[in-house]
Amino acid sequence: MTNLNEIRQQLEAGKINMVDLVKQYLAKIKEHARLNIYIEVYEKEALERAAILDQKIAKNENLGSLHGIVASVKDVICIKNHKVTAGSKMLDNFESQLTSTAIQRAIDQDIIIIGRTNCDEFAMGSSNEHSVYGPTLNGADPERVPGGSSGAAAVSVQMNTCLVAFGSDTGGSVRQPASFCGVIGMKPTYGRISRYGLIAYASSFDQIGILSKDIDALAETLWAVEGKDDLDSTSIDLSSVKSTDWDNPSYCYFPEVLDHPKLSSDIKHALKEKIEKLKANGHKVKAVSFDLIDYLVPTYYVLTTAEASSNLNRYDGIRYGYQKSDKRNINDLYIENRSAGFGTEVKRRIMMGTFVLSVGYFDAYFNKAQKVRRLIIDKLDRIFSESDILLMPTTTDIAWRLGEKVDDPVEMYLSDIFTVLANLAGLPAISLPQESSGMPFGLQLLAKNNNDHLLLQASRNF
Ligand code: GLN
Repeated sequence: MTNLNEIRQQLEAGKINMVDLVKQYLAKIKEHARLNIYIEVYEKEALERAAILDQKIAKNENLGSLHGIVASVKDVICIKNHKVTAGSKMLDNFESQLTSTAIQRAIDQDIIIIGRTNCDEFAMGSSNEHSVYGPTLNGADPERVPGGSSGAAAVSVQMNTCLVAFGSDTGGSVRQPASFCGVIGMKPTYGRISRYGLIAYASSFDQIGILSKDIDALAETLWAVEGKDDLDSTSIDLSSVKSTDWDNPSYCYFPEVLDHPKLSSDIKHALKEKIEKLKANGHKVKAVSFDLIDYLVPTYYVLTTAEASSNLNRYDGIRYGYQKSDKRNINDLYIENRSAGFGTEVKRRIMMGTFVLSVGYFDAYFNKAQKVRRLIIDKLDRIFSESDILLMPTTTDIAWRLGEKVDDPVEMYLSDIFTVLANLAGLPAISLPQESSGMPFGLQLLAKNNNDHLLLQASRNF
């Protein structure tokens, strides 16, 4: 079942119970085992939780706002006494001693967690091929990638193994796989969902995001988990956020994006058609020039690799992580442990990040990128003072074939061109699946900071 309303109606009418529902999802997980979606399935625990919920329903007790939702969790989000490895050998067998705020709040509202999904190592990647557990395959065509880094989260929803998936989005990792797999994927405003218990990649970009086929289930989940958390100083106190109103949202788009040489003709066509439709429905739709397109990917990769090189310091095999070496010499010990524990892509990023932060290059790269980030933010502020919603493609094309880009990192990085914007500026953004006769793809709506609920409302009409 892929619709929260329908699930709740059937629960209420006694046509199904939570145990049956969880069993249905477990059967789907088994059926699609070949796609390599789950690293671990919490079968026993999910069934036990379901039985408790069924008792609550039978006794007419108050139910949490997420009852009826069964969710998967990406392998970068911590749950106490459960393994979490960020798709890396470095955290092989690591068990978390805490539960992330987002998951704790969801559990408090009666969500059921069914398992832990595969992902690119430390959430670095766009294809789910950089995982120590091997790639996850796209359910629409198993010869193709599901996107990344939350590729398996998207496939877990795509193949109906759960209703909602928790992922993380540093530069598109929720929206891009959502686009490749034909589901909805949202990255909320930076700070809207606490990052406590999310394994850090690039802290000023990272944000927990949500995927589903059902926008109501996605919205309910966001409402339940968002808001201030004393354990994350960057989390937003929503009581101080002014709410605006859009009765008839105005749209804008960038002609530079529409005419981008990498944009496939099908997606370009869909975007143009959407623009015409919006106009026909009485919305203001304006073309706004954005001359910073070519700076997005370089700025993103300079800053995120810098932050990653610092965040990943802690994996030395002593404080955290895989221990291969028995060397007594500290340098050799670090080198051996980190060489064996990290995969190629993670090492590449640590090297890049260390380089852009190094004494001779700091001003030329890191500082320069910080300044460009500011220009991007200022420009978007001006754009959103005149339009409510920015319309973009999510991806340049449909999902590529397995192996196609894995040996060409720059080509893989460039594919992130339309998603990194939201993270550079901290904006809320959502990818919505479009009609397609072939492989799925999505279009993306972006809004001003903290207009997340309005964005969801607009997405319903969109
Ligand atoms: N593909 C991007 C990267 O590799 C985004 C990843 C993410 O959002 N976690 O950095």
